[in-house]
Amino acid sequence: MKFVTLLLLLFTPVSLAFGQAGPPRKTENVILITLDGARTQEVFGGLDLEVLKSKTKKGSVEETPLYKKYYAETPEERREKLMPFFWGALMKQHGSIAGNRSLGSEAMTTNKMWFSYPGYSEILTGQAHDDVINSNDKKRNPYAGVLEFLKRKLKLDAKQVAAFASWDVMDFIAEHEAGSVTSNAGYEPYDHPDPEIKLLSRLQSEAPTPWDSVRHDYYTFRFAMAHLKLYQPRVLYISLGETDDWAHDGRYDKTLEALERSDGYLRELWDYLQSNERYKGKTSIIITVDHGRGATPQDWTDHGEKIPEARYIWAAFISPDSPLRGEWKNMETVYQNQIAATLCSLLNLDYAENNPSAGKPIEIRQKM
Ligand SMILES: [Zn+2]
Repeated sequence: MKFVTLLLLLFTPVSLAFGQAGPPRKTENVILITLDGARTQEVFGGLDLEVLKSKTKKGSVEETPLYKKYYAETPEERREKLMPFFWGALMKQHGSIAGNRSLGSEAMTTNKMWFSYPGYSEILTGQAHDDVINSNDKKRNPYAGVLEFLKRKLKLDAKQVAAFASWDVMDFIAEHEAGSVTSNAGYEPYDHPDPEIKLLSRLQSEAPTPWDSVRHDYYTFRFAMAHLKLYQPRVLYISLGETDDWAHDGRYDKTLEALERSDGYLRELWDYLQSNERYKGKTSIIITVDHGRGATPQDWTDHGEKIPEARYIWAAFISPDSPLRGEWKNMETVYQNQIAATLCSLLNLDYAENNPSAGKPIEIRQKM
């Protein structure tokens, strides 16, 4: 190649080189994953020593099992102990994450509620509606969201767009029209031909959690994987919940274990996607959270209007169409209302068709 040609290539903006539509997209499937109320503090920093100290009633903090298992000197080492797949492989080789404020990257909700229904609705519909969506009650979402939009635009049947959630209210949030997509939430039975899944569907209510409205994430994840393998959906949403409920109960040990278990689920999902020609190299994943929670040993368990710290969230993007890797540094703030449009843009669709007031897509397809 001539030197001049090389120079031209180097300095031609990507958008020009590929024409107005931008580079061709590899993404054919999208997966959304949420970890309810998982704090930026643990996601970016692993074990929070101040919280652990506050929970250590007798003896030294260094003697606690949590310290021995998860403590290390630096935030990078601590988080990798807690989420070894996410930080060890996923963020190093395949994706990037916004929301580490110590690096100049913010991710925030635009709703001012800072609890679950408003957060999930903002993620799925692309807009906060604090006047209407202001409780966690089982009320049908008055706004159609990204799942129903994708089903319509991609002309998919209900099996091809599936949402599995540990929290029972998700049925009402994810679907504006009941039954339009596959939605399985809370202790809802899941019908599947595999005898093992049939057994799990029964067990979920026979081996309940301490909470009336949230089943163990294990069931949610197993049903989602079974659905993925049998029906090969193009749009999948997995909504895990235990990270929030254990935190409300003040169980820091269980909260960390839930986060670590979620990391294991991510690994299993990822390994399956890599083993399947329909998904390998053709699937984009966004992992995010409905809300943050308090930053101190006094309020880490809680979130909501009285805890403004809970506005801070994080969002990770794993896509064959995104060259970004690792943590975002000194970048524009990312908002929760942009997630729906970002999922659509990865499939070359314009979410503004569904909701002109929704946040615009986050630009993850080019290096910034
Ligand atoms: Zn909560």
